[in-house]
Amino acid sequence: MQFDTVIRGGKLVTASETTQADIAIRGERIAAIGKDLARGAAHGANILDARGRYVLPAGIDVHVHLALPFCGTVSADDYDSGTRAAACGGVTTVIDFAIPYGEETLQQGLDNWRAKAAGKACVDYTFHMAITKWDRHHKEIRKIFEQGIPTFKQFMIYEKEGWQADDAAIFAALEALKDLGGLLLVHAESSRVLDLLIARHHTPAEMKKHGAWLHVVTRPNFIEAEAIERVIRWTRETGGRAFIVHMSTGEGADLVKWAQATGVDILAETCVQYLTLDDRVFKQPDGRLFATCPQLKKPADVRRLWQGVRDGEVCNISTDTCTFTRKQKDLWKGDWTKIPMGMPGLETLMPAAYTDGVLKKRLTVNEFVNKLSTAPAKIMGLYPQKGSLAIGTDADLTVIHPTSKRRVDWKKMQTHCDWNPYQGRELAGFAEHTFCRGRQIVRDYAFVGANGWGRFVGRDHVGRA
Ligand SMILES: [Zn+2]
Repeated sequence: MQFDTVIRGGKLVTASETTQADIAIRGERIAAIGKDLARGAAHGANILDARGRYVLPAGIDVHVHLALPFCGTVSADDYDSGTRAAACGGVTTVIDFAIPYGEETLQQGLDNWRAKAAGKACVDYTFHMAITKWDRHHKEIRKIFEQGIPTFKQFMIYEKEGWQADDAAIFAALEALKDLGGLLLVHAESSRVLDLLIARHHTPAEMKKHGAWLHVVTRPNFIEAEAIERVIRWTRETGGRAFIVHMSTGEGADLVKWAQATGVDILAETCVQYLTLDDRVFKQPDGRLFATCPQLKKPADVRRLWQGVRDGEVCNISTDTCTFTRKQKDLWKGDWTKIPMGMPGLETLMPAAYTDGVLKKRLTVNEFVNKLSTAPAKIMGLYPQKGSLAIGTDADLTVIHPTSKRRVDWKKMQTHCDWNPYQGRELAGFAEHTFCRGRQIVRDYAFVGANGWGRFVGRDHVGRA
């Protein structure tokens, strides 16, 4: 066998075990795992010494927004900077949300997103399809499914943006996707009460007094919990399958755990920021920068979500990457309802989850691999092509040092942003080397990939973790 790359002597970590072995790549695939594989290397092959390192299946971020028109601007990371950031963070597959705007069809929305990515992406990508106008869009679901998109998304908020789905639309979508074997992702927040609370506090005096802290005041935990309760109910009654995106509250985790125990087919992800940051940041002078949707919650929620990651009701960890620069964030001019909501995340997903998860002994390194790669691959229909270290599967690998830390500094990052939520923090788990389908795209912590290497990955099913 003539191997193109041999990664020697590392600890191979999968969701279930850790073994010491060489791993060899030929073309885009993992070709061999075993001892002394360098003997089978082709002339001029890339031989990488990984002694003292972990070799993992690369990360999969199932929740990103690149070049998203939102909050009166467009998110700052596109398929160029966003996927470079992903590579340096050890992520080689991203799932973005194709969203139809205005009167667009699902097909137009999907075509728009495919065009944003084509020729630019440095890592592999695929999409969830947002259904924003159920009455018209439902007719297209099968056609979109047949194009490799079995996962759909509805928003329970964002009426003004024209994205909101009401209960009937969610109920009907669960039914329709059940028939096709798809999965419905739901942004669960209770819009009417949220609007009421926002209106109540949207006064010059309140805004002057509390600034960005009003995000916290107007999004108490029950805003998410009530909406999750409703999704659980519709999922139970339809016998459908739902996936709560970016779950941020302990109450949400309690509800999902209870629903799962009573046989409801519901899943929930959380995002790394809900595990590593909390709402005290809004008291900082630059607190506005941290505005996301949903908001960061309390330290008790952080603890409860980690528990859920361990126990299973939280099935994976993603980012909801939606980058906005300081200038974009400054569009708020003191009004918290106008802050573009979102932050950079792809580059720090694995480091932040590794540092606060594995190094703080909340997770084993195998559980870490499961939540960042294997489980999301299985749920989203990418496994075993992605999310595994099996012979014949895509050589999507990241090599990390188990303990060595690097200080986060936005000035040195790929992400197109002039601040970072982890600025100054020391994080381990940055990708020393990353491979995407056999090609090395990060070497010695430096990006060496290329635009256009990333490919659209069609999916024909969803699965279980
Ligand atoms: Zn999102």
